[in-house]
Amino acid sequence: MEASFTAQVLRASLFAARAHAGQVRKGAAAEPYVNHVIEVAAILAEHGAPEEAILAGLLHDTVEDTETTDEDLVAAFGPIIAGLVAEATDDKEKPKEIRKALQISQAPKHSEAAKQLKLADKIANLRSIFDSPPANWNHARRIEYVGWAGRVAAGLKGVNPGLDALFDTTYRAALTRLASEVP
Ligand code: ZN
Repeated sequence: MEASFTAQVLRASLFAARAHAGQVRKGAAAEPYVNHVIEVAAILAEHGAPEEAILAGLLHDTVEDTETTDEDLVAAFGPIIAGLVAEATDDKEKPKEIRKALQISQAPKHSEAAKQLKLADKIANLRSIFDSPPANWNHARRIEYVGWAGRVAAGLKGVNPGLDALFDTTYRAALTRLASEVP
């Protein structure tokens, strides 16, 4: 019998929690890393994203940030979910500035499910930068991040209007907050 979607969500949550065990977010609150991937999956579920995007949302940082391999994901969750995670995974062999430029240029080329996943990831990251800013991120670095996230998002929009609107609201709130904090 095919596992129910609820069972798959719980299995992916447990897999992510184990893979990210011991990792914390960069922000001052030092939240467990798995909080981030649950937030991304919740944003996707609340905006009617397809089931495979929600499951890949839970797993989206496992290959980039843990010992998990693409083959592990294929074995545990099948090629569709693993493929979506691969679309959301940066090539860590490349320098950071190249990876950031690639995210902008590759955004329009992703599948519709991956576009929604990546947009939800940007929304969660923008929220984190303001709700629990990393201690060493000054005003200029936050401005730079928000601008970059906006340029990536431009290539991801057009699939899910609810997510597009949530990104825009979050982005505008971030800009307003940054403007109010000008030293
Ligand atoms: Zn992420």
